[in-house]
Amino acid sequence: MSIAEDDIKKFERADCEQDRVFYQAMEEVICSISPLLESDERYARHAILERLVVPDRIIKFKVVWMDDNQNIQVNTGYRVQFNNSLGPYKGGLRFHPTVNEGILKFLGFEQILKNSLTGLPIGGGKGGSDFDPKGKSDFEVMKFCSAFMTELHKYIGPRMDIPAGDIGVGAREIGYLFGEYKKITSSYEGVLTGKPFMFGGSLMRPEATGYGAVYFTETMLDMEGKESLEGKICTISGAGNVALHAIEKLQQIGAIPVTCTDSKGTIYDPRGVDLCLLKELKLEKRASLEEYIVAHPEAKYIPVSEYPKGGHAVWDIPCYAAFPCATQNELTEIDAQNLISNGCISVTEGANMPSTPDAVDAFLAHKLCFAPAKAANAGGVAVSEFEMAQNASMSKWSFEKVDDKLKETMQQICKRVSLTAKDYGVEGNYVDGANIAGFKRVADAMIAEGI
Ligand code: GLU
Repeated sequence: MSIAEDDIKKFERADCEQDRVFYQAMEEVICSISPLLESDERYARHAILERLVVPDRIIKFKVVWMDDNQNIQVNTGYRVQFNNSLGPYKGGLRFHPTVNEGILKFLGFEQILKNSLTGLPIGGGKGGSDFDPKGKSDFEVMKFCSAFMTELHKYIGPRMDIPAGDIGVGAREIGYLFGEYKKITSSYEGVLTGKPFMFGGSLMRPEATGYGAVYFTETMLDMEGKESLEGKICTISGAGNVALHAIEKLQQIGAIPVTCTDSKGTIYDPRGVDLCLLKELKLEKRASLEEYIVAHPEAKYIPVSEYPKGGHAVWDIPCYAAFPCATQNELTEIDAQNLISNGCISVTEGANMPSTPDAVDAFLAHKLCFAPAKAANAGGVAVSEFEMAQNASMSKWSFEKVDDKLKETMQQICKRVSLTAKDYGVEGNYVDGANIAGFKRVADAMIAEGI
């Protein structure tokens, strides 16, 4: 039995359904890093794997708040502080009804390696709640955020743990969370990132993940000797912060993004997505995508129910490059086969782990350029770290400065991943390259700091 199989068996407890995505993320990493573990016995001697897959602590708490009808509501809040060997715990908060401990462990684990890959001094963590901001009034979101922070503030700090946004948590939620933290602690400090600009947020934080994913793709295509994105059809899933800004950057560089999706359906606009309308629908009105075709009847709306089960309409549209930017496991093996047979040459994960393991295997087997999430979507957390630096020095960087540093960071991550893959005999495999490079930096720090 190889080291990888041995380790997977040791950690796997398939009886725990909630942890399924966590084991999925962990198994991929363990398989990727087995050549490193075999070539350097220090990692086994220091029990790095055993220590890395267990969070330092998981904080779970009750959140009680009152809705607009004066009904008392109860949700669960979490913060998974996974690893702080490279810096304070850093990672987003997700507010979504599917949130549970297993999902946050998966996201926190991925975050350790992602943050490590940026080369910046940040550890890994994640948190959130099963609260659903969808359909809630502004006032209800504010009430919930205040109640959530009443408990969370005990465990975070600008040198300890710095949460940010994720699905369901944007500048509005971060603003309310920051306001409550300040009220409770009387301390005006950079304890959260993704803050609104007027009270310490960094320029370009909202754009960072989507823009970063496109910068990564441009570098990867160039390094792999492929044609650039200019003039090429691109398909994107999602209609949240990551998707909107990936679309924006793609348009800026002359590519043609033609799709976006939400939980109910897909918009396919062959002339290119109308980004102004999309922003209005999603950011201002928080409306369903179906409304897009009211303004653009020539575009196509495909409801989820009208596409055969097991696949997704968005990945059945011919494209040069695909950008899954919605959520975990949204792109299945069937979708991967559709993309491949329609001539797609590049897939960039804007969301966290959007491709299932079978889909990833298919991409790698067909030699597509495949950019895994922990490398390709690291632009968000990188700009969060820039926000921490600005807050600590009481300074404000220009849009150009943040953009230049983001671009440079994404190019460096891409090169680091590609070179690592080459060094370990898996040239062109960015999954293994990212896992090995990310693991190595954090593992070396763990060895250096002792137990
Ligand atoms: N939630 C984002 C991610 O998945 C950003 C985290 C942060 O900015 O701390 O990386």
